[in-house]
Amino acid sequence: MTLAETLAQNLRNLAQRTGLSRASSYRLFDVALKQRTVLGPSLARFVFTGPDVARMNTLAPDQRIKLLFPAPDGSPPRLPHEGDWHKSLRALEPSHRPPMRTYTIRALRGEALEVDVDFVLHGESGPASAWVTHARPGDRLQMVAPDARYPADPGGYEWRPPRGVRQILLIGDETALPAIAGILEALAERPCGQRVEAFIEVPHEEDCLPLRTPPGTRLHWFARDTLELGHGEGMARAARELATLPSWGEREKSLQPLENVDIEKQLPWELAKPTDNAFYAWVAGESAAIMAIRSHWVGELGLDRRALSFMGYWRLGRALE
Ligand SMILES: Cc1cc2nc3c(=O)[nH]c(=O)nc-3n(C[C@H](O)[C@H](O)[C@H](O)COP(=O)(O)OP(=O)(O)OC[C@H]3O[C@@H](n4cnc5c(N)ncnc54)[C@H](O)[C@@H]3O)c2cc1C
Repeated sequence: MTLAETLAQNLRNLAQRTGLSRASSYRLFDVALKQRTVLGPSLARFVFTGPDVARMNTLAPDQRIKLLFPAPDGSPPRLPHEGDWHKSLRALEPSHRPPMRTYTIRALRGEALEVDVDFVLHGESGPASAWVTHARPGDRLQMVAPDARYPADPGGYEWRPPRGVRQILLIGDETALPAIAGILEALAERPCGQRVEAFIEVPHEEDCLPLRTPPGTRLHWFARDTLELGHGEGMARAARELATLPSWGEREKSLQPLENVDIEKQLPWELAKPTDNAFYAWVAGESAAIMAIRSHWVGELGLDRRALSFMGYWRLGRALE
């Protein structure tokens, strides 16, 4: 055995003894609603607590988690902690299977055993929004979130600006507001003098929350009711008319054929792979709106997609598990 092989074997033995080889990046947490605060007509902050929230981790302001809601038969989610949670979920009869939806960790206070999730209040059309409408302190859910004991990067976040980035552009709707608020807060904590623009579309004027931003941020809200806009029209206006875009040109166009994504079947998800630190855009929200922005910037203007992240967070008129 070579020295390298011996070292590798020793590491494997150590991982087995400490259980790290079995640790997975995300794990199941039992949580209960501790507090519910209305932030605006369309937004509520839920503080969840649970015995092992101290073991939860978040690596970026757009860290995504899965929430498991009560099953169609009304039973609260009770997946076993042992084994593969996803396999256990799939094995359940549809009437007992908890519906699963994706959310963002808005804040995590591990020592206080508290994790915040900001929910959009959009009526009772989906299992998540129906639960959110009626939830009371003490109500239980299960959450699939990064495990702090996992020794490597668990992934599950897309906010990865290049080091020393000079210009940041954020565009999103109410579902992306928790992530954008967190991103702006993180930038405010360590301001680096970069140019920051954020455009956020929300249902009502009263949903325009006070946000902590780095100095000089250009923050622009679109309230759909006041401006009489449809879903995505504020984001489109930001992308087409208001945002300061880098001046890449014709040269890029021929290099960038646009693949089609069937937004009725999947959420569009295309991530930046920055090659320099000039510009970085993070765009998330309703899928058709995201695709329209992508098509305009990449297909018509020829912007370099390596600096652009596009993420569909939901699809108007469709439930996407
Ligand atoms: C990475 C990621 C992070 C996300 N973070 C958050 C978050 O922090 N907070 C948050 O509230 N959402 C967040 N979302 C969006 C959330 O997952 C969806 O809105 C989800 O569809 C809600 O599930 P539901 O059971 O309420 O509705 P579904 O059963 O999925 O859909 C039922 C109906 O409701 C409509 N609908 C779904 N969402 C909305 C909406 N926001 N406004 C109006 N109509 C809607 C659908 O079009 C459909 O007609 C995130 C999504 C992703 C992918």
